[in-house]
Amino acid sequence: MGIMEKMRLDGKVSFVTGGARGIGKAISIAIAEAGSHVVIVDVDIDEAKKTAQEISGLTGVKTIAINTDVTNQADVDNMIAIILNEFGKLDIAFCNAGICMNLPAEEMTLDQFKKVIDINLTGVFLTSQAAAKVMLRQGKGSIINTASMSGHIINVPQPQCSYNASKAGVIQLTKSMAIEFAKRGVRVNSISPGYIGTELTLKSPNLKPLIEKWNDMAPLGRMGRPDELQAIAVYLAGDTSDFTTGSDFIIDGGFSCF
Ligand code: NDP
Repeated sequence: MGIMEKMRLDGKVSFVTGGARGIGKAISIAIAEAGSHVVIVDVDIDEAKKTAQEISGLTGVKTIAINTDVTNQADVDNMIAIILNEFGKLDIAFCNAGICMNLPAEEMTLDQFKKVIDINLTGVFLTSQAAAKVMLRQGKGSIINTASMSGHIINVPQPQCSYNASKAGVIQLTKSMAIEFAKRGVRVNSISPGYIGTELTLKSPNLKPLIEKWNDMAPLGRMGRPDELQAIAVYLAGDTSDFTTGSDFIIDGGFSCF
């Protein structure tokens, strides 16, 4: 069997949190094109349903959308129950939902700090833990968390200490779980994108001048596109990455090199 055939995900079952749009949507499309059934998990259920329909229309795999706040334990338990009821197993989990707040450290309130940590770090913990419980029972599974180059470098000029701290946490959480599960068939890796053009970065008019600065600083002179994360997502999801665990993949067009 050739490498492209080995990379296919036919018959696998995946969930993607924050899958309604942006990076999560691009990942969902990619793994569906590779043959996996996909569960779109999001707080924006209308958009999640639209994305799920679009993907099943495009690829023919089975898709469902589940309204889940990744910070809420009951929501996450419910999500797993629905997935097991619909599909009877879970092979691949993309814990991707995240937000960013640009606020000076000395002005940020406790609630603002906690909100970013809750969604970006605790949300990844809750969803990857829930996935791991199923996968450890099965003796097999792949968990992929979305971290960021902000887990490695400090973005400038915007102040975003809570985001940077949350993403550094995701990288260490990923490695910790990878080591705990290594001998039990469950792999855990993270993807650390650089600036990617999604609603998170493009929707706010305040970010427009920043985007020009980021592009000036970028070795490739531009932001990335969500589809430029699709190949690594398919690789990490499937069995060709069986020797890959506890790794963080920086896909940032060289941004964090200097
Ligand atoms: P988007 O804002 O475009 O999409 C994120 C999705 O997650 C939205 O649909 C959002 O819904 C949903 N979401 C937010 N909070 C929750 C929650 N509590 N529970 C479930 N779903 C939620 O973001 P991106 O696609 O740009 O980002 C995806 C991930 O990639 C994030 O973890 C982000 O930190 C990371 N990343 C992004 C980069 C970028 O430049 N774009 C760079 C590096 C990392 P709603 O809109 O209703 O809030």
